[in-house]
Amino acid sequence: MIGIVVVSHSRALADAAVALAGEMTDPANGPAIKIAAGLDAETFGTDAAEVAEAIGAADSGDGVLVLLDLGSAVLSAEMALEFVDPDVARRVRISSAPLVEGLVGAAVAAGAGADLEEAAAEAEQGLMAKSHHLGTGQGAVADETAKPRQKDEQDQRNPGKNWGETAVTREVSVSAPHGLHARPAARFVQEVAAHPGVQVRVRNLETGRGPVDGRSLTAIATLDARQGHRLEIQARGAGAEEALDALSDLADSGFGDLAPARATTAATAPPRTSPGTVPSSGTGPTYALEAAIGPAYRLDPAPELQDYTAGDPGDETEAYDRALAQARRELEQLRADTETRVGGAQAAVFDAHLAMLDDPALDEQVRLALLEGVSAPDAVRAQVSVLRAQFEGLTDVYQRERGADVSSVGDRLLRALAGEASPSSPASVTPERPGILVVHELDPATAVQVDAVTTLGVLTVAGGATGHGVLLARARGLPVLTGARAADTVEDGTVVAFDSRTGRLVIDPDEPTREEFEALLGERADARRRMLEHADELAVTTDGHAVLVKANLASVAEAALAADSGADGSGLIRTEALFGDRAQAPSVAEQIAAFEQIAELLPGRTLTIRTWDVGGDKPLPFHAHPIEANPFLGLRGIRAFREDPRLLVDQLEAICRVAREHPLRVMFPMVTTVEEVDWALARLDEAAGRLPDGRPDALEVGIMIEVPAAALRAEALSALLDFVSIGSNDLTQYVLAAERGSALLEGLTDHADPTVLQLIRDTCTGVAEGVEVGLCGDAASDPGLAVLLIGLGVTDLSATAASVPAVKDAIRTVSLVDAQDLAARALQADSAAEVRELLRR
Ligand code: PEP
Ligand code: MG
Repeated sequence: MIGIVVVSHSRALADAAVALAGEMTDPANGPAIKIAAGLDAETFGTDAAEVAEAIGAADSGDGVLVLLDLGSAVLSAEMALEFVDPDVARRVRISSAPLVEGLVGAAVAAGAGADLEEAAAEAEQGLMAKSHHLGTGQGAVADETAKPRQKDEQDQRNPGKNWGETAVTREVSVSAPHGLHARPAARFVQEVAAHPGVQVRVRNLETGRGPVDGRSLTAIATLDARQGHRLEIQARGAGAEEALDALSDLADSGFGDLAPARATTAATAPPRTSPGTVPSSGTGPTYALEAAIGPAYRLDPAPELQDYTAGDPGDETEAYDRALAQARRELEQLRADTETRVGGAQAAVFDAHLAMLDDPALDEQVRLALLEGVSAPDAVRAQVSVLRAQFEGLTDVYQRERGADVSSVGDRLLRALAGEASPSSPASVTPERPGILVVHELDPATAVQVDAVTTLGVLTVAGGATGHGVLLARARGLPVLTGARAADTVEDGTVVAFDSRTGRLVIDPDEPTREEFEALLGERADARRRMLEHADELAVTTDGHAVLVKANLASVAEAALAADSGADGSGLIRTEALFGDRAQAPSVAEQIAAFEQIAELLPGRTLTIRTWDVGGDKPLPFHAHPIEANPFLGLRGIRAFREDPRLLVDQLEAICRVAREHPLRVMFPMVTTVEEVDWALARLDEAAGRLPDGRPDALEVGIMIEVPAAALRAEALSALLDFVSIGSNDLTQYVLAAERGSALLEGLTDHADPTVLQLIRDTCTGVAEGVEVGLCGDAASDPGLAVLLIGLGVTDLSATAASVPAVKDAIRTVSLVDAQDLAARALQADSAAEVRELLRR
């Protein structure tokens, strides 16, 4: 027999409902009914762990029907499914039925032998009798007749499917690189709000999560919608079609997150971190000092409000409204100031904070609690912790770290309730004397508010390296060390020193260690000065070997930065990122214009244009792509155009036309076989055939070596080419069978792994005669590794624009012979860690 679980905010309510159901069933033959209700006998609330326990206790193998009251009960029940055994979770049905009527109906049906589906259907019809009797419908439908009422009842049985005749549905895909996290979700909510007469709900077709309210940023963010997922958006009400049009346009534009974030997905991707470390390689401007020493200081924590005197629900609602208004004013001010003083992209995070203030998942639940007599601070604290738990439960590390934004908004409200103002302009938080800020986690507001002159660095006890706060602080040039648990107990005034390139943290250093850190800072400052002075010059080893250090580009803006950094051209233009914010494919003329713009910013320097690299982690809004079980092993790069090469041939035409005026290379990504090289060359000939003078002589042709098979067969693949360029990001993931974006596989995704180095060496020694070997993955942006790479035989590096000066500087300090010796020792190492140790010596 099926089991039933009752989830309610109130223990008393659940007990009474179960007792009522007991009146209608035969105690000897009734189903097992378990209760997960209230935080204790008196305190309202729901607890996912308790729900999970109740599900386990009610499960006899025939399935469990979960009935619940409102709001966070739904969230807790959904979260509980993550905690129970997946086999059990598969036979659990969370019902949208009304609690009391549904419980009675289901218990009676189960006692009569109904299976899970039948009992669930019975529960979901629980309101039918009452509604027929009273002649009322359920929910707001346009046409209040018996027919729509039946529709509504049907809707309840099929959540997310039938939402009444007036509902219109659209499927969109998520192309934003980090999925539908807070910022894109905020844009979604803003768009929904722009259509006031329309109700919208969203479901993640990939995970089955939802449908959730389209006005709720938090609910949307917790759909766990990741890049490549398909969403079903339903809308109803006057103007539903227009709302769907606007929402699909928004989805096509990557929810406004595509261009900037895509530019960071690969070479400039934010670092992942292990406790107490921030990897140094290729992350942000490597001429930042990335180290600090000074006395620790902390900011005042959010007020406890122990002396808060709660009024009646009316007073508390008023207090909450005032706090909301104050928080809104502060955030608007902060947004505007951050835009002016730091940048528009960084300021956008405060849009998400503003949207959270209006989020029904926060606002409605808080108001509900206020009506129940809970004080405003307690209501805010409780709901923030529910929402925070939602984020913590997400699988994607980037999305999980958005939970810090929820806490930040919560703290702001608590300060407002305490009558305190939160600082609301950048650089408005100044310690009494220069020092190192120690925080549990760095929220974006604090990251812009600390004065970068008096704050020498930031230590975070928890939180990873991709939180908005950490990204913002790094954008301001502040040294940050994340996950430094040892700093948790550091008292104000205690001197701390850290080096985020190595992850070293010293608390209360002795005199020699202090001197060591002072010296390190002095050296880095000198090195920065030196490398910027010589950035425009060629990098030549001490024994006279010149190495080209180019820049990877994903936008025209980056080309300007590359020019300032002294890049010797571009070894990789990621065209899928350059045009990734387009809903429609750019025409040949538009592509020519963009390539020429870049060429003019880097005059006379060779540009390597990579053809569309789609698939895996790179969707392209204007390229239809099937859903694949293993996208990284699927239709990636050149494979995606075998069936229909039109987009590719158009792009090759643009490249050929620009190559008549500017020094250009064309590069094909994800090539695996000789046959693919032949096919790509044939497409190039096809495109060149559209030009009166055919393929320009000066156009050099190459492929990326990112697949182990290509590295192992470098000679055969390169026979007809001018160059190859190693994509160490993908090569590493394929050699080590470790997804490049996975935070869980951190130790396994290091491109310093000796096996990866071995394949790089094999490529260098294996290519056909006269073929040049470059490298354009993240490895080239790490100055230490860059030296090792030239020792392995790479002659042309392409790094992030910001790291070009540091890479050049490192090359100038060694001879090729020393680099070769280093490479030989690295190839003998047993692990990436051992290689990194060699680089430190
Ligand atoms: C690589 O794989 O190393 C590379 C440069 O390509 P992307 O990072 O764009 O996949
Ligand atoms: Mg790649």
